[in-house]
Amino acid sequence: MTRRIAILGATGSIGKSTLDLVERNPDRFAVSAVSAGTNVEALADIARRMGAALAVIADEAHLNRLRELLAGTGCRAAAGESGLVEVAVGDADLVVAGIVGCAGLRPSMAAVETGKTVALANKEALVTAGDLMIRAAQKSGATILPVDSEHNAIFQCLAGNREQDVAKIILTASGGPFRTSTADLIARATPSQAVAHPNWSMGAKISVDSATLMNKGLELIEAHYLFGLPSERLDVVIHPQSVIHSMVEFVDGSVLAQLGSPDMRIPIAYALAWPERIATPAQRLDLAAIARLDFETPDLARFPSLRLAREALEAGGAAPIVLNAANEAAVAAFLAGRLAFPEIAATVEDALASSDFAAPGSIDDVLAVDRATRSSVEAAMTESCH
Ligand code: NAD
Ligand code: MG
Repeated sequence: MTRRIAILGATGSIGKSTLDLVERNPDRFAVSAVSAGTNVEALADIARRMGAALAVIADEAHLNRLRELLAGTGCRAAAGESGLVEVAVGDADLVVAGIVGCAGLRPSMAAVETGKTVALANKEALVTAGDLMIRAAQKSGATILPVDSEHNAIFQCLAGNREQDVAKIILTASGGPFRTSTADLIARATPSQAVAHPNWSMGAKISVDSATLMNKGLELIEAHYLFGLPSERLDVVIHPQSVIHSMVEFVDGSVLAQLGSPDMRIPIAYALAWPERIATPAQRLDLAAIARLDFETPDLARFPSLRLAREALEAGGAAPIVLNAANEAAVAAFLAGRLAFPEIAATVEDALASSDFAAPGSIDDVLAVDRATRSSVEAAMTESCH
């Protein structure tokens, strides 16, 4: 049976890796619907090539152009958030949630509420609305399969084990491009230095998050919601080679780890074919050539974002939403050359200290806190420029 796949964020890094796997396995998978943010030409190319029935561009200004590009293909064009939700709830068997940022929340949630199998890469959705999403999945019967390499590794290590036998989860982090840099050098980091990840090739936002270690902070919160463990049972260890993708320690002292080369097609393939496995072209591990695996404790003084994320996880309520929104706004400003690298964490810290929102009861509440935080962060950044 062919598994029908819908891809939210088809033009991105996760989207492209997913498409590569689908194209290598035409008898197993077909793409039914795709979306993108603004790149209408790339979206139309993908929709044509994959024979998708629906293509959605988030930016409504591009809808006419998308219609023109898809004329005669039989692929319907749509736009805006309602279009993204259509991709999520349509006739696909599995939805790949590959939008970056809180922009992916509503469509990711719609897929969960419809009871889909969701291959979730969009970590910001879980960070901002984890409780709501997990409860919605329990209610609808949706299966959330983590695509983030760490959570995918943990998911693989947990298979066949009982929840009550888990002692803790150990997330590995590469340490990013500034792992060995002095605080002085980090203070002068440019966008091109920050996005040059030593091991992984990813979108710009997550690459900056990897450089600040906010990515690991978001992943702590993601792990908390996915696997139901409190902060004190979630550890982070720096592992510069990115060979071990994460570990689970059990009550008997056994530690299980998942290893592989740093290629997102491995965790994506696991989610696409779950509970089976499919071949991937990822490079095989040559442990003798790698020779050694190193581990270090993260330095929270040089990388305060990881501390802030843990504090937000422990504070609960709306704190993770504020953390994520302030970080998204600050990272965008950094990439645009409007903010210095250390100001990213400082902006997040200020936003957390000055916010006082009630815990969200709905996705509307989450999005309201997200918007309010972004506008106060924007106002503060504009002020400090004058
Ligand atoms: P990317 O920037 O390469 O791609 C993002 C995709 O989302 C694109 O298709 C873009 O068109 C779309 N998009 C952007 N803004 C949008 C908006 N406002 N509305 C609708 N669509 C929008 O990002 P990526 O690296 O593929 O990351 C996607 C998600 O997966 C992120 O949440 C990231 O943290 C997570 N993730 C990525 C990797 C990786 O290797 N790239 C690994 C683990 C987790
Ligand atoms: Mg990750």
